[in-house]
Amino acid sequence: MKKLSFLFVALILVLSIGVLSACSSSSNGEKDDTSKSNTSQEDTSSTKSDTSKQPINIVAAEDFYGEVAEAVGGDYVKVTSIIDKPSVDPHDFEPTANTSKTVNDAQLLIYNGIGYDNWMDKLISSSSEASDKTVIRVGDDLLNKKEGDNEHLWYMPDTMPTLASALADKLSELDPDHADYYKQQVEKYKETIQPLEDLVSKLKQKTPKKVETTEPVFDYMIQALNYEVDNEKFSMAIEEETDPAPADLAQMKNDLKNKKVAFFVQNTQVESPVVKQFSSLAKDNNIPIVEVTETLPEGKDYVQWMTDELKQVEKAQAK
Ligand SMILES: [Zn+2]
Repeated sequence: MKKLSFLFVALILVLSIGVLSACSSSSNGEKDDTSKSNTSQEDTSSTKSDTSKQPINIVAAEDFYGEVAEAVGGDYVKVTSIIDKPSVDPHDFEPTANTSKTVNDAQLLIYNGIGYDNWMDKLISSSSEASDKTVIRVGDDLLNKKEGDNEHLWYMPDTMPTLASALADKLSELDPDHADYYKQQVEKYKETIQPLEDLVSKLKQKTPKKVETTEPVFDYMIQALNYEVDNEKFSMAIEEETDPAPADLAQMKNDLKNKKVAFFVQNTQVESPVVKQFSSLAKDNNIPIVEVTETLPEGKDYVQWMTDELKQVEKAQAK
């Protein structure tokens, strides 16, 4: 999708290079997008065949949700994800003027909700066209979650299929002519994530086992696999960037030293001396480490990302 629009912009640049030699081209992707629609009114717009309508402009706060929108919307949507690289920590994200413009231009917005990305609430309500926008807050609207619940909802195996169906409904309201298409796309999407669901069922424990984790990022998956986090307070402290209490540190040490847990989950996007210390302790005691990330790693899609993490659980189970 990204590649396509880049090619299209490149093509327009090539076509107009003779005429526009005096005009300094903007380096900003979003500006290029707006100039694209202006240019396509001219007679050079022969590259697209089926564009009686503009694609529906979808903006996702996080790229793992944007990916579902691309899958379901296919040919009839243009998707922009705001947080789209692992170097950005969603917990500390500060929107820029550009973000606000991107949100303002969107017809359909998807974000996690339940306090994870509050900046979206603010940008949408301050938008001049707030009432015209279709909004999906994954936690609040689809999963019956509320502020204070674990925010890392994309680690629940049901989240993406639920979002896909909800997206098809909303897209069909905005674009009834293609309702059948969106329905088919959901079915295709569900097929692509089926292997993931199969893997979760395969790895699910019959009786619950304990694990330790440095952060609550992976907790919904831990539950889905029928494991239990032994020392939740420790991971909450790391997530909130506070110091774990001495009793929680002692329990963590005890769990690892006495091999009371099946594996140790580490969020590799967080650098912390305490985490480092316990991951070495886990290693020293031959406790498998499952490395996870909060956000989509570079060059992977959602299924690859989840599968790579689940394969580490599979390896830990084989130990
Ligand atoms: Zn987090």
